This record gives sequence, C-alpha cells and structure tokens, in this order.
Amino acid sequence: MTSKIGSTVLGYPRIGLNRELKRALESYWASRSSEAELREIARRLRADTWHSLRDAGLDSVPSNTFSFYDQVLDTAVTFGAVPPRYTSLGLSPLDTYFAMARGVAATPPLEMTKWFDTNYHYLVPEIDPGTRFSLADRTPVEQYREAAEEGVTTRPVLVGPLTFLLLSKSATGAAESFRPLDKLPELLDAYAQLLVELRREGVEWVQLDEPAFAADRSPVELAALRDAYRRLGDLAERPNLLVAGYFGDLGEALELLASCPVEALGVDLVAGRATADALSSIRGLRDKTLVAGLVDGRNIWRTDLDKALATAATLLGSAGEVAVSTSCSLLHVPYDVAAEPNIDPQVKSWLAFADQKVREVVVLGRALREGRDAVAEELAAARVAVADRANADRVRNHRVRARLQALRPESTQRSEYAERCVAQQKSLSLPLLPTTTIGSFPQTADIRKARAALRSGRIDRASYQQRMRDEVERVIRLQEELGLDVLVHGEPERNDMVQYFAEHLDGFASTDNGWVQSYGSRCVRPPILFGDVSRPKAITTEWATCAQRLTEKPVKGMLTGPVTILAWSFVRDDQPLADTAAQVALAIRDEVSDLEAAGIRIIQVDEPALRELLPLRAARHEQYLAWAVAAFRLATCGVAESTQIHTHLCYSEFGDVINAIVALDADVTSIEAARSHMEVLGDLNAVGFGRGVGPGVYDIHSPRVPDVAEVASLLRAALDAVPAQRLWVNPDCGLKTRGYAEVEEALEHMVEATAEVRRSLC
Ligand code: GLN
Ligand code: ZN
Repeated sequence: MTSKIGSTVLGYPRIGLNRELKRALESYWASRSSEAELREIARRLRADTWHSLRDAGLDSVPSNTFSFYDQVLDTAVTFGAVPPRYTSLGLSPLDTYFAMARGVAATPPLEMTKWFDTNYHYLVPEIDPGTRFSLADRTPVEQYREAAEEGVTTRPVLVGPLTFLLLSKSATGAAESFRPLDKLPELLDAYAQLLVELRREGVEWVQLDEPAFAADRSPVELAALRDAYRRLGDLAERPNLLVAGYFGDLGEALELLASCPVEALGVDLVAGRATADALSSIRGLRDKTLVAGLVDGRNIWRTDLDKALATAATLLGSAGEVAVSTSCSLLHVPYDVAAEPNIDPQVKSWLAFADQKVREVVVLGRALREGRDAVAEELAAARVAVADRANADRVRNHRVRARLQALRPESTQRSEYAERCVAQQKSLSLPLLPTTTIGSFPQTADIRKARAALRSGRIDRASYQQRMRDEVERVIRLQEELGLDVLVHGEPERNDMVQYFAEHLDGFASTDNGWVQSYGSRCVRPPILFGDVSRPKAITTEWATCAQRLTEKPVKGMLTGPVTILAWSFVRDDQPLADTAAQVALAIRDEVSDLEAAGIRIIQVDEPALRELLPLRAARHEQYLAWAVAAFRLATCGVAESTQIHTHLCYSEFGDVINAIVALDADVTSIEAARSHMEVLGDLNAVGFGRGVGPGVYDIHSPRVPDVAEVASLLRAALDAVPAQRLWVNPDCGLKTRGYAEVEEALEHMVEATAEVRRSLC
C-alpha cells in the first residue's frame, strides 16, 4: 500500500533564509569558491528544507524543488535539450549549465522570460527537430536518494512534459512549421525512463507540474495533454503520479486529466475561482486523490482557515481522497514572518510567509482527517487574525474612499492630442527627434554604499541626501555634455522603482528579509500593500527640481505607474485589484500635480509591468485592461495641456495589449525595440497609434555598445514607420544596471547618430 499525500506543499523557496544560495552562487561565479563548496551549501539547504517540512508535520515532502538557477533550465538539462553552442564550449556540466543561464564571452545565454503571470523568470529552452531527448542527468533520482539518506521520504517534483514544451521556443533555423510540441513523443520516452528509474529507487509519488493549462490552449494541445498522461499512466512500472495545474482554472484540461490513468490531481483553488464548482461535476475523480490548493502560494496573507475548510467540505464527495496543499509552489513568497522585526505588530499578525503557510496546510490536513476539534486552537487563532484584519481601522482611509467616489469622468480625460501637442511644443521647443533616456543612470558602488551606510546609521539622512544631490548634479552635467535634449535626474535615490514609492506611501509595509527569487541569484523584496493607499507628502519633487535648477533643458520627472506598483508588490486580497489600483493612481496623480506645480514640464509614468499582470485567459483580458488603463489615466490626466506625459513599457511583443497602449493616451511612449528591429512600430501603426513614440535604439540588457552607424540605421528604419515629428530617440530601458563607461559611449553614439539622421532630414 502506498502512503497518502495528506498534506503537502507544491514547492518551497530555495535561495535560503539568509540568501545563502545567492552568496554561494555569486562567489562561485567570481571564482572565489570551488564547485565542491557550492555543492555543499546547496546540499545543506536541501537537507534543511526537507527536515523542516517534515518536522512541521507535512505528510508528503517535495524534493527536486531545489535549483542552482531555474527549474525549467534543470528540466532541459535532465532531458538532454542542451543546444550545441553550449556543449561545444567544452565546460564541466555545471559550467555548461551556468553558460546557458548567464552566457559566457561570445555565447549569449538562453532567453529569459516571465513564468506565467508571476515575477519569476525562467530560461526558455530551445528545441529543434534535431533535439535528441534522453535521460541525460539524474538529479531527480539523486536528490530523492539524498533525502532518503537524511531520513526523509520525498516526492520528486518535475516540470511536466507539456508545460516544458509549451514554454520552449523553436530554435533559430528550425522550419517555420516546426513546433516544440511536435517532439512530445520522444520527450515522453525520456520521461518514461525517468519514471521507471524513480520507481526502482523506491519513489512512491512523483509530481508533474502543468501550469501551462491554466492558460488558453488549443484543441491540439489539449489532446496532447490527454495522450501524454495516458501514455505515462499506462507505464507498467512507475510511481503514482500527481499532476498539478496552478495559477488559475484548468478549464477543459481538468476533465481531460481526470480521465487519465493518474492517481492524483493538484488544483489551485485560490487563483482558480471556478475550479471548486467545476470539480463537483467531474466523474473521473472518484478513484483519485484531489490535492486541494487551499493556501495561497503566491501572496502573504494568513489563510481564512474556516473558509478553506468549507471549500474542502464541498470537495469531499467528488474525489476518492482529498489532500491539502498550497495553490502553487511557495517559491513566490519569502521564508518566515518571524524574520521581520520591523513590521508593525498588527500588520505582522495578518501575514503568513512560506513557513507559516506550511503550518496552515498541516492544520487544514489535520482538521480534515481528525476533525476540527483536533486543531481548535489553531483555527481560533486564525479566526482572530482574519477578523482583526477585516475590521482594522488602518486598512481603511475614508478620505481616499470619498475622493474616489467623487471622481468625474473628466478626471481621466485630457483634451485632443493635436491640441496638446501644439501647447507642448510651444512650452518645450524641442528639436526634431528629441533624445532622452528612460530615467535611471548607473547605480554605482558609491551610491549603494551610501544607502547601506544610511541604513546602518553610519551616515545621517542629511549627508545621504547631499551625496545623492551630488550624484544628480554629475548626471545632469554628463547629459549636457552628451547633448541630450530631455534630461533626467538619474534616480540615484531609488533602491527599486516600486519599493521606493511604497516606502513613501501610507498603506504599505516594507520587509527587511522578505526576499523572493526573481531569477538566478537575483531576489526582490516586494513591499506589502495592506491598506488604503495615500500619499502623506510629495515624494519626488525635490529631486526633480534640484535637477531642473541645474539646467536650461527640460528635466523629465520620473514616476512608477499604478499597475507596476501592484504587479511588484504583495497586494491586499480583500478588495478588487481595480479598486486598489485606483487608490495608488490617486497618490501618483497628486505627485504628478506637484511636479507640474514645481515647474517640471515633462512627466514620465512607467508601466513596464502592464503586460505582466495580463490574465492568463483571454476572456479576462478586457476587464483587466479596462481598469489598468483607467488607473494610468487617473494618474496622468490631471495636468495642463502643455505638460507632456510620457510612459515607458519594457517589452516589444505587444499583441494582446496594443489597444490598451493606445488607450493610455500618453503623449510619448518609449518601448523596447532594439532587439526586435523596430517591428513594434508597424504593430502600433496598424492600430492607428498617432502620438509620440520612442522605440529603444540601444539594448541596455547587454554590455555591448552599438556604434553610430547601427543606431542611425535603426533610426532610419523607425522613420520608415513613423514621421519625424513623432519620433523620439532613447535606449530600451533604464541604465541602472550598466556601468558608466559603456553608458557614456553608447549615449554618445546615440546622440551622434541622431544628429546625422536629422541632417539628412533637412
Ligand atoms: N525609470 C525606470 C528606470 O529607468 C524604468 C525601469 C523599467 O522600465 N523597468 O530604471
Ligand atoms: Zn524598461
């Protein structure tokens, strides 16, 4: 007889409570430590995780959730999908892996992109008709064995074969008609071999993650899902299979999976709002375990355990067995609320990070198995915390609510662009093809040191501010020397474009230790938006005006937009996102007004995450885009005609959001374009976009400096699509991650190329 899943989590953070893995990786990359040292730290992190999950009382502990960089990359390596340009480097297996993740000298890394609608980035595998899948690496087996040696029986977790191929891209050179999914039968052979080996090792359960089915899928893809799990399910020798789909409702895939010979299905009952109802009508579940994702794996609020149990109760009749889990992997939340000494105690009592969520899962599991009385105390404590949060004065600000209530349609409308345009040109007198940057200049070691010194109390606020002002002056002088037309203050005072605003707004809390992996060794500390948002006082005017005083050229004020602030924070879940976005928008609107009143004539409101929050299902796009656009307009439409509003977007594949970009009604939109050779301009023209546009002419994601001819040719390509009167010249994105040497040279080339193209226009 095999053991039951009972209570589990779908995955767990791996960077380490004190970011031990980050430090170990960076030290290995810098050749300051050996592979053996790195592996030892990794082994300890895994062992600690297994022990703590088991000791917390989970019935089933996951393994293979560790990764040196990314789980999708791991899957590619496990199944031998390593492009020849990396194998031919002749590096050790570990260094080949890191070459795919980070690139080496002349070999760039694999492309990186966002993992569904999260802020985690995975590496995009490249598949072509010649890719030979095999069981090339046995990490999942080895880690199972390693855990067993630690005395912990685990459930290896793998990215499922469909999700793997659906997230892969077809390698350059493959035929136009080729799809990675064409290779499914061969990939399944390799998965089958791995399953057999895991079984021989003694593995009882394997988890296969198929979040790709929380997004819209074609009939062909759905049929492939069914065929794949029939095939794997029919293997004579294999562990029990738990197929987990998360980040939303599985829709049609749910019924298909239920009809497959697998032993358990994992569903997301938090993001999958229709799933609980859908389950009751699905027959195939009667002989399966339903792993109910009742605890939110992506947000940081304590679970309403009573509500979760009520949901669980509705499932009891549908499935053979109901187990409790998180909605998705806990990779997306920090480790431990106890590591936060500085969060206000009341707010802190409402929070659950990964370790608290593990305990919630355990409590729910016991309540289901032994009855509520067995965990009465825990349920009561949760009830108190949830009620306290619901009734707390500090989550509601009546002034903000009244202001939103009183808004008129005019608050989100400006006059005709044609009129604004004339007023702005009169006020700004910009040359044709104005040159500018996206906002940040390199964050030097000195800037970071000053910030660390302020935090640790080694310098006071006044001397910190002075250092930042010196930096602003340096950046202004540099831009004047370079001959840019619209200047920026350089954002030295901002640690992060969202965190900075969160720290200056009411309704947000910041963490000291709430790190979440974004990609590789890079972590972010998302702020926590817990209550109604308001702005106690002006945030950026001082910086913008201090810059403007130093120059005759217009200085652009820089703000982060409401959608991006939401996307990169942990956001309250007790009201619709649209309402929260509107509150943030009001705060930004006040900031815009203050900048304008202080004499700043150009204001940029960045929305790089507009596309990231786009729901996975097309049916929800319209509703999302409506509130996202409304929030941006609320933030930006309070200004005079002559004030020029810019926005910046960080991607070049618009597709689904292109009409929304038009609807933002910004006077100037800067967008990523260098890597896609200005293709976006054609897309914008196709929907009748007729305002200012600054397609990035220089890719800031790479240290490469483009020469004058290259920038000039991109500009000429842009002029084929956009009249000179509407074209702006700027890099792809902010410069904060780059060094000064490259930035100066690249901007010099950008300005020179612009001058050359301008001459040819007269
Ligand atoms: N203004 C920000 C900067 O220049 C924009 C960053 C972004 O688009 N991600 O850094
Ligand atoms: Zn950007």
